[in-house]
Amino acid sequence: MPKPDPMSRGKKSADPAQLFDCIIFGGTGDLAMRKIFPAFYRLMADGKMAPNSRILGIARTELSGEAFRAMVKSACESHLGSELQAEALDRLLQVVDYQRLDANRGEDYPSLAQWLTSGVDRIRIFFLSTAPALFDAICRELSSHDLVTPATRIMLEKPLGEDRVSAERINDTVAKIAAEHQIYRIDHYLGKETVQNLLALRFGNTLFEPLWRRGIIRHVQITVAEQLGVEQRGEFYDRTGALRDMVQNHLLQLLCILAMEPPASSSADAVRDEKLKVLRALRPIGEAEALLNTARGQYRAGSIDGKAVPGYREEPGVPANSNTETFVAVKAEIDTWRWAGVPFYLRTGKRMPTAEAEIVVHFEPLPHSIFEGSFNTQSPNRLIIRLQPDESITLRVLAKKPGAAMRLKPVDLSLDLAESFTARPLEAYERLLRDVIDGNLTLFMRRDEVDAAWRWIDPIRQAWDQDEDGPKGYPAGSQGPATASALIARDGFAWHDE
Ligand code: NAP
Repeated sequence: MPKPDPMSRGKKSADPAQLFDCIIFGGTGDLAMRKIFPAFYRLMADGKMAPNSRILGIARTELSGEAFRAMVKSACESHLGSELQAEALDRLLQVVDYQRLDANRGEDYPSLAQWLTSGVDRIRIFFLSTAPALFDAICRELSSHDLVTPATRIMLEKPLGEDRVSAERINDTVAKIAAEHQIYRIDHYLGKETVQNLLALRFGNTLFEPLWRRGIIRHVQITVAEQLGVEQRGEFYDRTGALRDMVQNHLLQLLCILAMEPPASSSADAVRDEKLKVLRALRPIGEAEALLNTARGQYRAGSIDGKAVPGYREEPGVPANSNTETFVAVKAEIDTWRWAGVPFYLRTGKRMPTAEAEIVVHFEPLPHSIFEGSFNTQSPNRLIIRLQPDESITLRVLAKKPGAAMRLKPVDLSLDLAESFTARPLEAYERLLRDVIDGNLTLFMRRDEVDAAWRWIDPIRQAWDQDEDGPKGYPAGSQGPATASALIARDGFAWHDE
């Protein structure tokens, strides 16, 4: 039976004295090399990690500790560039080790148990950075080898299932060996600095709260656009699609942060309770509404930054008749007093013209304009929160154009976070690892949130599966299919960038 984590109580901020062992299943994988180890490097370089903590990479490939450290070194060099300091990297490499272990083979675990014996009093982090199909075996073997201590924390990478039933299976599996407060379900969007700034903006200022509602806000757009195609992940992506890969987690989490009621405190459960209420208040999109309130697309050959790129069906691992969507736009409605009648348009796609993530809050149009011009019918005010590539917050207002005539022109009041603060912003994985070490669950999804998100997503997927039309083609490098523009135009709006 899982026991309370004795080390998470009363911890308020990163405590470098906290010793931990982090065991990364999938230690040689893309995610470990691109994100996890560079994040550990930063913790080490910033003195945010107890120097005697240990990190163990695990995978099936036969590798010596030395060869693994060489891999980690070269990954850090290529992903951290000029930020990298040889001395800090050396300190990190001294605490990195490797074990060959097949997650499915019980007989491989005693050597892991042996490695862990010298760290019985430490925080023990199992980072499951493998395909979810392995979670079951990993949990079973960790439990049967008695490796889960009260101070164990389990980090889970997405995808958390492909529908509500499979997500429940994963959650049940992990719940057999760990209590909910020991489980850290990652949505790395929540680790982004601007997402936390959104919380600061909404709940650290009195200015926005009175405006944050129907009657003042007309509609909201959330866009996460990628320039990349499916790269080497065609087979995985074809089973997943944009709705499950992006909307179920990242876009819905952003929507929750934007739309939730002010929590009573910043404690994990206070915040997660409010996010859950938003998910539960999402108006269900049944079969009849799904084709009306969603648009899906699939990229065809086109060009990105002037370079020709193949269509989705020509990508390696993708069947030539695939109907998997690489683009989705959805109109979401939240049935609460605050948000009744305020649509939230969510949009995400691959092979878009630029890689960007932004939230645009459109305010109501003027009820009456005393100035000549067209702004009396449109909303002059927008709050634009950019998450990537740069992180900034901009409030668009109308100002008078210099000159004799009374002409108004939109101008931006901008907060460029990089310019305003000299401190280096934390990378998402760096923040999330710190939070796991600190036992802070605020930025991780609770089981009931995952469940509520799938409950909203599943009927859309089911309706699409019944629809013979399939996704509409759009050329790589375009803004997606025309149906996405039509979806929002039907309500009298346009996408912010159109
Ligand atoms: P990956 O590059 O394919 O790496 C998979 C890792 O798992 C490798 O280290 C592999 O090494 C190991 N592995 C596979 N089978 C194993 C077994 N039976 N026992 C022990 N280790 C095994 O995958 P990834 O891109 O790092 O992604 C890992 C997980 O994170 C996936 O679920 C993915 O969907 C998710 N994710 C990835 C990203 C990303 O940017 N890459 C982003 C978000 C989520 P061996 O083959 O040597 O065993």
